[in-house]
Amino acid sequence: MEFKRSKRLEVLPPYLFAEIDRKKKAALEAGRDIINLGIGDPDRPTPDFIIDELRRAASDSKNHQYALNLGLPELRVTFSQWFEKRFGVLLDPNREILPLIGAKEGIAHLPLSVINPGDVVLIPEPCYPPYVSGTIFAGGTPFYLPITSDNKFLPDLESIPQEVAQKAKLLYLNYPNNPTGTVADLEFFQTAVDFARHSEILIAQDAAYSEIYFDEPPPSILEVEGAKEVAVEFHSLSKTFNMTGWRLGFIVGNPSAIRALGEVKTNIDSGVFQAIQYAGIAAYQGYDRHWRQELLATYRTRRDTLVDGLEFLGWKVSRPQGTFYVWIPIPESISSLDFASMLLDKANIVVTPGTGFGPSGEGFVRAALTVDVERIKEALSRL
Ligand code: PLP
Repeated sequence: MEFKRSKRLEVLPPYLFAEIDRKKKAALEAGRDIINLGIGDPDRPTPDFIIDELRRAASDSKNHQYALNLGLPELRVTFSQWFEKRFGVLLDPNREILPLIGAKEGIAHLPLSVINPGDVVLIPEPCYPPYVSGTIFAGGTPFYLPITSDNKFLPDLESIPQEVAQKAKLLYLNYPNNPTGTVADLEFFQTAVDFARHSEILIAQDAAYSEIYFDEPPPSILEVEGAKEVAVEFHSLSKTFNMTGWRLGFIVGNPSAIRALGEVKTNIDSGVFQAIQYAGIAAYQGYDRHWRQELLATYRTRRDTLVDGLEFLGWKVSRPQGTFYVWIPIPESISSLDFASMLLDKANIVVTPGTGFGPSGEGFVRAALTVDVERIKEALSRL
């Protein structure tokens, strides 16, 4: 029997990459030498000291049972200590921190916790797609805020019509930004907090890339005075510690929003495997070790190699301040989908078409710096 998928799934934005995915698969099967700049997944391994702690904790049978949704108190305390050191913000480990099965899980479940069907959710785009799908699954209506080079890739909150702001319950932000690589400063976060207070909207700032940066460490929105009244922030171990497969993240900030998300989660999941929680503690305890400087230096070399190389070829590309993505403008005469398809056909290079992140992504492709610098040089020579 063939079951019809739900209406909920049918109203999601269409998946645009089927054709490129098919071509990529065929190219790989044909043994072509593909340089994959499409995937936002670190190529470097998780540091050994974290794996060692997982090994120890996994062999302790105390960790084999259901974990509490709230997570180990030691984990929340470790995270709060790191947060204070990194951002100068105090968090109450009992009310203002909740572990997640990766930031994505919390991002997608948050609308179920804090909006009602018909409520508006403000979503800057191009963006990470779960802001949209989470909103739609909860019966919300996305209102898109284009982020373009004209507004320095920061949403213009003043442009939001009054009647939309009145219906809005939630505003997603994401800095450092995927896909554009933009870092927001405290001044922008202050503007967003003022707007949220005035319109009584919850801000969900996605800081999954807060530890991947090239200049000053990016701020947390919670550094803005009083931000906890209107904001939560997502953090993730995925990119910070090369732990995408492990699934561990956090939400921090406004206690009532965190409590509501916790209620949704107790009805859906049963917490993070405790051995992974212990590994998470080890990760933050080893945050300051030399491996991190090496990781950031690796991304910097790759970024500069790609941006300098593209500039040498005559492309105008701005150097991302954070994340491991380069947001590359393409000629106006061709769509981002066709451009990506052409790169695959003619140069065996995979990039992500900008429209995959929203309509304002047209005119760009995204390249991820998750391959070795030698492969980036090879990609440049093919270009
Ligand atoms: N937020 C953004 C902007 C991302 O790009 C990603 C992953 O690519 C995530 C969150 C997911 O983080 P996690 O692995 O913790 O679910």
